[in-house]
Amino acid sequence: MLIRLENITKHFGSLKAVNQVSLEIKDGELTFLLGPSGCGKTTLLRLLAGFYTPDSGNIYFGDKCFNNIPPEQRNCGMIFQNYALWPHLTVEQNVAYGLDVRKIPAEEKKERVREALATVRMLEYAQRTPNQLSGGQQQRVALARAIIIRPDLLLLDEPLCNLDTRLRLAMRDEIRRIHSETGLTALYVTHDHSEALSLAQRIAVMNEGIIEQYASPTEIYQFPNSPFVAGFLGEIDWLEGKIEKCEQNNLTVKTGNFLWQITHVTHTYKTGTSVQIGFRPENIIQLPSDIHDLPANTFSASIIQTIHMGALCENTLISQTFPEKKFKQLQLTSPLISKIGTINNFQIPPDRLLIFPATEKK
Ligand code: ATP
Repeated sequence: MLIRLENITKHFGSLKAVNQVSLEIKDGELTFLLGPSGCGKTTLLRLLAGFYTPDSGNIYFGDKCFNNIPPEQRNCGMIFQNYALWPHLTVEQNVAYGLDVRKIPAEEKKERVREALATVRMLEYAQRTPNQLSGGQQQRVALARAIIIRPDLLLLDEPLCNLDTRLRLAMRDEIRRIHSETGLTALYVTHDHSEALSLAQRIAVMNEGIIEQYASPTEIYQFPNSPFVAGFLGEIDWLEGKIEKCEQNNLTVKTGNFLWQITHVTHTYKTGTSVQIGFRPENIIQLPSDIHDLPANTFSASIIQTIHMGALCENTLISQTFPEKKFKQLQLTSPLISKIGTINNFQIPPDRLLIFPATEKK
């Protein structure tokens, strides 16, 4: 079902927890709400579930305004960080709960419980109680309990945050699979950018009660529309500079004595404007030592530290061109990685540099 928020605002006293938020959650899509602690994610989720009423604005499920529809009439499935299972009921009884409330006949209930437990691969645990299950298994039961009611909207509030790293990664695969099998419309709240980037079909990045950007994971990572979004989605280094020359989609920016060419430009800039430019560690490319024609945006730097992370290694670079700055650089681990202290040429492709007005907050 298509879910639409139109200019939703919610205060707690004088605090505007959600500020004029408009958002469309497309039918069958897994949409993420991503942002730092306290930015208003849970409040927005609770507004959708019906636990809060908006101070202004409208919430639509399909084409019906749901502002005053109570939670029990919204057909939302919810999954919380702490699983919220009934401790005295078996897995089967926990999963059946939503069907009991809806007075579904016994035969149909039995079949749907079996189907839901099979979907989350928990059939053989049907007779256990939650305290006989691991965290990951409890979260699977919570998933089964939420999807069994065939919700119009599935709401997930940091569902994996209590699991260890290995289980979290395994559960990501499970959620991806279950979502593609059920085709449910879902909103997933998290502050973990890697979870959002790896699972979402669309991400809304929230900051201080507003949605800063709403786009696909690749677009939001590669083309963030603000320094905040750029920094929240992954590691990034910044330099301050001034526009030296503007030619349609080709800017020259001066930082210190260095001239950068930038070709991916979304704002309009005038010569002399103060700007900040940002680049991600994986976009700093080490050039081969025998290259003669150095491309635009090449600078020499030495590696002062290398951290090996398995498939990748992370270098820390210093360069006399940018005194007092250290840059992170990521590259695939290979026998060719330079030794600490060696000076090499590095380049950032002109379409990989991000540029924003100097006034925008990081
Ligand atoms: P987290 O990731 O830490 O859960 P969040 O992004 O979900 O944070 P919210 O829980 O939506 O943030 O809170 C947004 C703001 O509203 C915060 O400043 C919070 O302190 C405040 N807030 C939330 N619920 C209430 C409430 N019931 N009464 C008063 N203030 C509240």
